[in-house]
Amino acid sequence: MGYDAVIIGAGLGGLGAGAALAANGQKVIILERMEFIGGRCSSVDRDGWRLDIGCHFLFGCEHGSFGDAAKRLGKEIKFYHPSNFQLRVHDSFLKFDGEKLVITGRGPDPIKINVMDGIREMMRLMPQELMSMGMGMMTQMMPMVNAMAAPIIKQFDKVSMKSMLDSYFDWPIVRDFMEYFQMAGYCTPSNLTASSELLRTLLIYLGDWKPGMNPLELMGYPIGGLEAIPNTLAEGIKEKGGEIRTGTGVKRVVVENGRAVGVELTDGETIKAPIIISNAGIKETVAELVGEDKFEAEYTKTIGNLVYGNSGFTLRAKMKQKISDIELGFCLPNHDVEGYLHALWDDLTIPDLPTPIMVSSPSNMDPSACPEGKQLILGVGPCMLDVKEDFDMLGPLCVESLDMLIPGFKDNLESYDVLTPKTYAAFGEENAPVIGIAQCMGQVGDERPSSKSPIDGLYYVGGEAGRNVSGVACDMATNSGLACADYIITQELSKV
Ligand SMILES: Cc1cc2nc3c(=O)[nH]c(=O)nc-3n(C[C@H](O)[C@H](O)[C@H](O)COP(=O)(O)OP(=O)(O)OC[C@H]3O[C@@H](n4cnc5c(N)ncnc54)[C@H](O)[C@@H]3O)c2cc1C
Repeated sequence: MGYDAVIIGAGLGGLGAGAALAANGQKVIILERMEFIGGRCSSVDRDGWRLDIGCHFLFGCEHGSFGDAAKRLGKEIKFYHPSNFQLRVHDSFLKFDGEKLVITGRGPDPIKINVMDGIREMMRLMPQELMSMGMGMMTQMMPMVNAMAAPIIKQFDKVSMKSMLDSYFDWPIVRDFMEYFQMAGYCTPSNLTASSELLRTLLIYLGDWKPGMNPLELMGYPIGGLEAIPNTLAEGIKEKGGEIRTGTGVKRVVVENGRAVGVELTDGETIKAPIIISNAGIKETVAELVGEDKFEAEYTKTIGNLVYGNSGFTLRAKMKQKISDIELGFCLPNHDVEGYLHALWDDLTIPDLPTPIMVSSPSNMDPSACPEGKQLILGVGPCMLDVKEDFDMLGPLCVESLDMLIPGFKDNLESYDVLTPKTYAAFGEENAPVIGIAQCMGQVGDERPSSKSPIDGLYYVGGEAGRNVSGVACDMATNSGLACADYIITQELSKV
């Protein structure tokens, strides 16, 4: 059977590329070494509990790259969009229940602001024609705004997020929140993250927004769990004649006369195709699957010097009963943020309180995530693969942190497990990063590694590559696959 393209890895990058190519009529085969697809965006089903691996909350959703990839295949992925969130910063709580924004902890009485009433009142006062005209104009103008903003944003490629935060945020609580928010989004310390990524990310999601849409629709949780995304794309790819093999590791990319012509599997089988797309990590592809001797020394040096983002952990807590309405929460530690980050990233320790930065309850968004009457709560936080201490410390400390955010957490805990950076190392990338190539200065915008390798026919996708591909983790990985495939379709296949 002749293939137009072989894709190494069925993460979101590989599936995004596969979706675009298969939808365009190319015959693709996706080879995944794990027994499941989706990579860091997947789930396992155990005794009525659907436990997600890796990520928990997505951006763009049906309006972003997931929707785009699915639509090309004639498929649909449904998302639950949050109706509430809560945030604990130091001793203060900020809760939004879909109507009221309640701030407690800085005085005897909570401050209650009815946000929705305010928005409704503003909408009521604004003439409808004017509003729809304004929104329509904004949508029309987005390409122009993007083009005009690009050179301005580029200037921030060399400005760290830390400098930006130091310049514009001097209220400690807000400063700390922004510090954590950037860490949750990019998984790098703020002195390394390029501030331009925040601006690009904002523009991407502003571009996904359509007139009349509730902005909360731009974030959400897939109905059916994280696995719903890879499963839907895989189904569509197969319907378009593509093949997906799990438990099939690729040992090397076969290069003949300077051109990638196929792959050799770990069992010795060779599969040929004129296009090879690797979702296996750019460094790993160059050093291990292809071999550094096949590239110019300067290129291997550049790739070898790329910095990956930091790693993380996930605590998955099975609760005896439903104890909280929380859908999405952020929890920041009750002590100095700089010290916490220093302990984490410079001293390579597990700080006293490994606060889960992000907390979500999938079962509150999709009840099929756990047995009836119970609740599933997840906490995700940063941690390094080469941490000096034992990963076993993470669980009990994280339970303490969650108990501070969710009253009754410890008393109602049935059991939990923790996925550590070791778990994520199984996906094969150096340092087991949460995202991939870090969105730090020198590695973003047009300095991000290109998906097109110097070897003809060889491409990289995922959180690893894609010049000018940006945004938040899963959305960015999928976009990288779509953009790479679109390039192949328009620039390479059109020549044949
Ligand atoms: C703890 C944690 C929390 C996160 N939280 C969020 C979140 O809330 N929101 C969000 O958007 N993102 C989040 N992310 C990030 C997100 O999961 C990743 O950015 C995204 O899934 C990366 O997709 P990818 O395609 O780049 O790589 P991967 O998912 O790693 O896919 C690569 C695939 O290639 C396969 N592979 C590698 N080598 C080979 C080989 N030689 N042969 C065959 N197959 C191979 C791997 O097995 C894997 O399946 C989180 C990640 C972690 C770890």
